[in-house]
Amino acid sequence: MVRTLAKISLVLLVIVALPMSFYLVREFSALSKNEEMVERVFSTQLESILYSINQYSENVVQQWSLSVDQPVEPQSELMEGLVDNLFQYNAAVQAVRFIDLESKQQEAIYFNDSIFELSVWPDEEQVEQLQAYLESSYQQIRVDVWHESLLLYFLPRNGQGKQACQLVVEPSTFLMRNLSPIIQKVAQDLFYVSITDSISGQTIYTTGDEGDLSDSWSKASMWYLPGYELGIRLKSKTLEELASERSQRDNYLLMAIGLMVVIGFIFVLVNIRKEMKLAEIKSEFVSNVSHEIRTPLALISMYAETLLLKRVKTEEKQTEYLKTIQQESFRLTGIVNRILNFSRLEKNRIKYRFEKIDLREAIPEVVGTFRTHLDAAGVDCCCEENKEEAWVMADWESLKTMLNNLLDNAIKYSGSEKKIRVRLEHKPKQVWVEVEDNGIGIASKNQKYVFDQFYRVTDGDLAHQAKGSGLGLNLVKRMMKAHGGSVAVRSRLGEGSTFVLKFPRKK
Ligand code: ADP
Repeated sequence: MVRTLAKISLVLLVIVALPMSFYLVREFSALSKNEEMVERVFSTQLESILYSINQYSENVVQQWSLSVDQPVEPQSELMEGLVDNLFQYNAAVQAVRFIDLESKQQEAIYFNDSIFELSVWPDEEQVEQLQAYLESSYQQIRVDVWHESLLLYFLPRNGQGKQACQLVVEPSTFLMRNLSPIIQKVAQDLFYVSITDSISGQTIYTTGDEGDLSDSWSKASMWYLPGYELGIRLKSKTLEELASERSQRDNYLLMAIGLMVVIGFIFVLVNIRKEMKLAEIKSEFVSNVSHEIRTPLALISMYAETLLLKRVKTEEKQTEYLKTIQQESFRLTGIVNRILNFSRLEKNRIKYRFEKIDLREAIPEVVGTFRTHLDAAGVDCCCEENKEEAWVMADWESLKTMLNNLLDNAIKYSGSEKKIRVRLEHKPKQVWVEVEDNGIGIASKNQKYVFDQFYRVTDGDLAHQAKGSGLGLNLVKRMMKAHGGSVAVRSRLGEGSTFVLKFPRKK
């Protein structure tokens, strides 16, 4: 059996466990790569959010340029109206100045709140570049830092490259009035967004208290706020935490799968072992039963033949032979009955007729029916007297079968001076029927198995020689269960055993 089991384990190992472990190892290594990828995806997403904020700032600036890039003379009432309109809704714009690039003359200048000196001239090289862009129909807006302000300039489409327009913008107002709403909207409850001075590192704007995770920010420079950096990070966790949390979850899942495979593997092996053991026990049972039946059959046929041939001289001998025939046929009937009962129990075909029985009277009566059998075996058997009534609900036939089995075993598994005591024990909710013998006893390691079907102890000479099917005690166990009770054993190897039938007491 051990070899077959080893073979099956090997096959299972090759078919299931090995491919599964390869798969798990592969998955584990793939997970760390996934972690990197997830981190990269997250950071790309954050960068695209930063890009969208910059894109928004460009839209604002283009809106400003469009509002003054109209087919209107720079120094005209119409332009004044347009610029006034721009100033009214955009507090960040401090001044608008038009310059004629050919004559290098200032054409017009408009101030929002306060008037200041503005004489800075656009860089010629840059102007040439803007002109080239404009020729290919692209209007670029340049930004420079001028004192504390930003100086945006572009070539109006209507000026055909010969005119430049400068906008003086107050950065903090631009930030608070124009960019802050969109930044708040983007950040919501998910992100921290901040704007820092890229040289001093000082934070000039933030959507909240961002904590101390300075290296977990994704950063991008601001298109229209030179020298400033836009930063974003997840509110609750860093990207690493998020990615590793994900892969940790997958790790646990994989570990659970691995564990399940191992448990499944063990489960299959244990079951196969059980089935193999059962098959072995069954084949042993067949040989035991055949053996058990053969002995009485041989005796019956031998004595019957002797009697038929009239070889028996005396009357006593004749009676003795007839008694043996009767005893052996009783034994045969017992064996057949046990097997039949067992098969009926297996198929749930046993019908119990429960009735109210006083065990104080019933037990001596049942034991009395086996008296001839007990006497023939030379057993000193007595039922201890009991004064108290012991009412239970029991099936008379089952009671007989169970006691028969216990007494039979007590005889079978005892040496030469057989002594059996049958007694009642009164417990608060139960009545116990105890059958005690002075036989070979059962080792404690075997006691828990004796009630299993087909189980037999075969250590020791007597146990080995005694014939049996391994069904008797299992039958008792099942019948006691049907009575709502149980059966137990107390035994010491070499000293004897006591089997206890525990009946629920009838009130
Ligand atoms: P069997 O037909 O083998 O007697 P049982 O189910 O009646 O089957 O008993 C199972 C095993 O329990 C027996 O093989 C025997 O080893 C052990 N056993 C049962 N009764 C006794 C007893 N009174 N003393 C010692 N061993 C016993």
